[in-house]
Amino acid sequence: MQDLPSSDQKNYPYTKNNKIIRSISGQESNGVRKKERQLRLFAHIFDSVNEGIIVLDADKTMLFINSAFSTITGYSATDLIGKNLNLLNLGWIDNVFSHDTWRRIDEIGRWQGEVVGRRKNNESYAECLSISTIKNELGEASYYIGVFSDISERKAAEERVAYVVRHDPLTNLPNGLLLQDRLVQAIYQAGRENHKVAVMCLDLDHFKVVNDMLGHFVGDKLLQEISRRISSVFRASDTVSRRGGDEFVIILPDLKAVDAAAVIAAKLINVISDLCLIDGNEIKITTSIGISIFPEDGYDENSLIKYADAAMYHAKKNGRNNYQFFTNEMNQLALERMSIERKLRHALERQEFCLHYQPQVDLRSGHIIGVEALLRWNNLETGMIPPGLFIPIAEENGLIIPIGEWVLREACRQNSEWRMLGLPEITMAVNLSAVQFRQNNFGEMIQSILCEYDLDPSGLELEITEGVVMHNAEVSIALLLELKAMRLKLSVDDFGTGYSSLSYLKRFPIDKLKIDQSFVHDIDVDSDDAVIVSTIINMARTLKLKVIAEGVETAEQLSFLKHQGCDEIQGYYFSKPVPPEKISRLLASGHETNSQWSYELK
Ligand code: C2E
Ligand code: CA
Ligand code: CA
Repeated sequence: MQDLPSSDQKNYPYTKNNKIIRSISGQESNGVRKKERQLRLFAHIFDSVNEGIIVLDADKTMLFINSAFSTITGYSATDLIGKNLNLLNLGWIDNVFSHDTWRRIDEIGRWQGEVVGRRKNNESYAECLSISTIKNELGEASYYIGVFSDISERKAAEERVAYVVRHDPLTNLPNGLLLQDRLVQAIYQAGRENHKVAVMCLDLDHFKVVNDMLGHFVGDKLLQEISRRISSVFRASDTVSRRGGDEFVIILPDLKAVDAAAVIAAKLINVISDLCLIDGNEIKITTSIGISIFPEDGYDENSLIKYADAAMYHAKKNGRNNYQFFTNEMNQLALERMSIERKLRHALERQEFCLHYQPQVDLRSGHIIGVEALLRWNNLETGMIPPGLFIPIAEENGLIIPIGEWVLREACRQNSEWRMLGLPEITMAVNLSAVQFRQNNFGEMIQSILCEYDLDPSGLELEITEGVVMHNAEVSIALLLELKAMRLKLSVDDFGTGYSSLSYLKRFPIDKLKIDQSFVHDIDVDSDDAVIVSTIINMARTLKLKVIAEGVETAEQLSFLKHQGCDEIQGYYFSKPVPPEKISRLLASGHETNSQWSYELK
């Protein structure tokens, strides 16, 4: 408890050295002793609480402060007691409270709020303050009692949480949440002041390759370096945010002319493509940028981001390492995409899917040794929608999981049916998307499907693209081993388009490489492609893997492949993907004449 002035004119009970000094003279009665005890107790309570307490009289003269007040503010009782709050420039709440606030306190009798206090050492802090009044018989305030706590630590913690929630921990850049807020603000401001806002979506090209080849640690450092470079191009009033992965979104809130955004995008492309040196690795990475403009392209934050995204996809398609402005055509594509997505949600339940099968032929024997199941979607409203269009969408929104399971089930059921019909045994090849491959319990699901249709595992082959198996190769090896242990056949699809390293290929428990059709297409005209194809065939031979060429359309391609020792082919030359009835007839028609195997292809 702090010292109080020795005068008793204020008719207020105060203490000295923890002893109550009374102002009442005369004989001590029991009642007075009881009051004294009570007051001593109050004094003790005041000093043991963590909240600062101050008592002022009607003129705002400070009469009393407790220990916590001193601890929080640094002011001692001698600094304050007997002095007037209004006349002193002592910090605390003196300059916070206006005349109006005091008038309101007098009227209502209490006030509560958060104020910025100032300690004796001039440091400011946040406090939660409540002031109440004790009124005399005339209803006028005769004392003010202020109780407050120092909430600066809580405030700082709240600010830290707010920061973390709205920033990306790797680069310290604003995240998508903060970006959204800033964009809403920028649009509002631009609408009022009649200027433009540019939104840029930026995505690094082939960043996954860096992660796969050099590891996530180097990948993360590269992202930090790139975010520094991006930030260096912009002003403090612009917002550079990281949306996740290798995607950045930037807002230029005060754009004078559309051309200015183009100049900045070109600059970005330049600074990003400069060589990066990360932990001794020289990395050259490029970027694709999409730009949308308010108000030309859209009026709200979601449309602007979506359109900048669409423009970015366009930049990727355009060969990467370039920027594109959003155009109405892209909008059309984006709308089409959304419409496909909507229809896709009902395709399974409406039974709009079916499978077509494309034969795979052994070049030595001429036998059909397998078929590849290819998904077909016949939408009731629009008709056939090609898999190249809807599968990437299904992969993005997760629908590929139920759709992929349906494909596996239907393909196994079909193969089992052909076997039961006594047709020659063939392998059913089914395409797996990345999402399925890494799905939990994928092996169990396959096992139960095989069981359901009583199909031997060797009758099912899973085609996984090279890009997918090479992405995080160590994890892929573990997953492939698990599938191989079930005696399934495994093949690497679109081989030659990814970044396989021979050392990994040796460790993958795979059976077959499928040479991508882009190489097969030009083998008889492009010598580079011919060299690639023959290298793949030789490599497969040394690795003791089977090799199949897909997209074989001509006799010349077939002859080249035969000559190189390719094991199998698949392509329009032999047959297009066809409905199951056609495969049944084809398999049944197979016969040998003069040691030449043939099928009735009509
Ligand atoms: P893919 O796995 O590379 O399949 C081969 C594609 O090449 C098929 O296209 C097939 O019709 C086509 N094709 C076959 N022979 C020839 C030829 O001689 N010339 C030409 N130009 N093309 C040929 P489709 O059926 O349009 O499928 C496209 C892609 O969609 C497939 O490429 C595959 O990645 C994906 N896909 C198809 N069905 C499924 C599925 O059930 N699940 C998953 N995850 N993906 C699928
Ligand atoms: Ca395939
Ligand atoms: Ca393929």
